[in-house]
Formats: sequence, C-alpha cells, structure tokens
Amino acid sequence: NLYQIPEVSKPRYVRVNTLKIDVDSALLELGRQNMVQKDDVVPDLLILPPATDLHNHPLVMNGSVFLQGKASSMVATALDPKPGWEVLDACSAPGNKTAHLAALMRGKGKIIACELNKERVKRLKETIKLSGASNIKVLNGDFLNINPKDPSVSTIRAILLDPSCSGSGTVSVRLDNLLPSYAAADVKDTERLNKLAAFQKKALAHALSSERVVYSTCSIHQIENEDVIESVLPLAASYGFQLATPFPQWQRRGLPVFQGSQHLLRTDPAEDGEGFFIALFTKEDNINHFEK
Ligand code: SAM
Repeated sequence: NLYQIPEVSKPRYVRVNTLKIDVDSALLELGRQNMVQKDDVVPDLLILPPATDLHNHPLVMNGSVFLQGKASSMVATALDPKPGWEVLDACSAPGNKTAHLAALMRGKGKIIACELNKERVKRLKETIKLSGASNIKVLNGDFLNINPKDPSVSTIRAILLDPSCSGSGTVSVRLDNLLPSYAAADVKDTERLNKLAAFQKKALAHALSSERVVYSTCSIHQIENEDVIESVLPLAASYGFQLATPFPQWQRRGLPVFQGSQHLLRTDPAEDGEGFFIALFTKEDNINHFEK
C-alpha cells in the first residue's frame, strides 16, 4: 500500500537566492498575494501556505527564489561555506545545492560542481545560469577520479557530498516508512540499496580530503545514512575529523546505532514533509559547531 502524504497539507518553502534579491524584498514581493513567514531554522528560507503554486511566479522564473524544500536547504547551510573559500559540490546536478552554496558564499570564492551524468550536466548549467552565480566551474566527470593532491583542487576547504540515493525520503511514502522502523526495506530493494550504499561509502571516504565535509541523502534508510557514516569513522578519525552537530537545536537526530550518532541529523517524512539525512565532519576546533 502506498500512502501519499497529502501534498495539500505541507507548507511550501522557497529559498531566497540572495545573489539576486534580499530576503525582506522577496518577502514583501511574495507577501502581496500570500501569507509569508521567515523560517526560524534556515536563514533565507520563506514559508508559504500549503498548496501555494509559485511555478510561474516572476521571482521563480527569474531565479530570485528557488522552489527548494526546508530539508534540502539545510544541507548547504550545514556546510557553512565562507565567502572566498574554494568548495566542491561532488555530485551536483540538478544544482539546487550548488546554487545555494554560491549564495551563502555571496558569489565570492570558487565552487567546483562535479557531475557524472552528461544529460544532467545540462540541467546543472541551467540552474547555475538562473542563479546568476559566476564563480562556479562545472566538471563533467566522476568525483571518485578527482585526485585531492592535484594542485587544481588541493585548495578546496569544504566538500558537499549529496550522492545518488534511493530517494526514499521524498517519493511516495509507504505507510511502513512512516512508522518508527526506518531501517526496514523491502527485500527487492535490498540489492539496490546495497549497491547505493557501496558507492556512498566509497564517495564519502574520498570526500574526507578537505576541512569540512557534509554528507546528505534524501533517504530514510539506515543503510544509506548511519551505516555509511559509521563505516568511515575510523578513517575520518585518522585524518583528524570529528562528527559535528549541524543545527544543534533540531530535535530529530541519527538513529542510535553507534556512539556519536546523536550528532547526525534526520528530517522525518511525516513531521517535516521529507526524509533527509545530514552528517557534518569537521576538523575545526570551533566549539560552536559541537554539542557539549
Ligand atoms: N545535490 C543535487 C541537488 O541538490 O540539486 C542533487 C544530487 S543527486 C542526489 C546525485 C547526483 O550525483 C546525480 O545527478 C548523479 O548523476 C550524480 N553522480 C552519481 N555518481 C557520481 C559520481 N561518481 N561523480 C559525480 N556525480 C555523480
């Protein structure tokens, strides 16, 4: 049985593209026809009433705002890239998070947007064009082939890794997935999940070459989330990484399957509209990033 969470009950979110418009101007503009509020967790995110259709709104058409959900907008925010940094978006198409990184960096610094799939690169380029960012270099290739020692990438400070995943947190939500056992997967899914998880582990291990790394999925499955993180912990520790706590005020954390999983972040399909997962690795001593 597939039970769709009624679309109509979910609030709508738009991420203000601050490269093109400031949040208050967007709020004023959208507020002419709608009730609009600022989100209290993600800066630059606006909340609109359920069923608001903005697809043809001029601010959407001209890239001033992006139709991007809250959980998706938490990912680049968790990486917290600073203007002037060099940042790699390892698996980037269609580019929503790439465009968000550019906005967070206020257009300053450099972003490398890597994408394996040639067709999806087209979409990525369109998103980048729409965002107005001029500091993004698109790389059509395999992230696993990027050599961290190559001088052209050795100055990268932060990596956002949002690899291919099952998408189980965003598509039609099964009733059993709404129940507490997030680890459950159909037997027929197991092979696919194992394959995805193998790539995710490999990609995350490869990403542990900068100072800050965010790993995210739109999956609710432990095998693509906590298990991937747990598998790289010894390697991460040997490189001097710790798990930091993105959005410490957020209640829903990782499943308690290893010590430290409370640092991980989950969003819940039923409560939050989408099931996302975020992990943040950092080498910084900045105590603000950690839970005491
Ligand atoms: N971050 C994107 C966004 O927010 O718009 C979504 C990324 S999507 C979940 C994963 C992407 O990774 C897909 O476009 C897929 O083609 C790409 N991909 C898969 N394997 C890859 C690899 N080895 N190197 C680079 N990109 C890869």
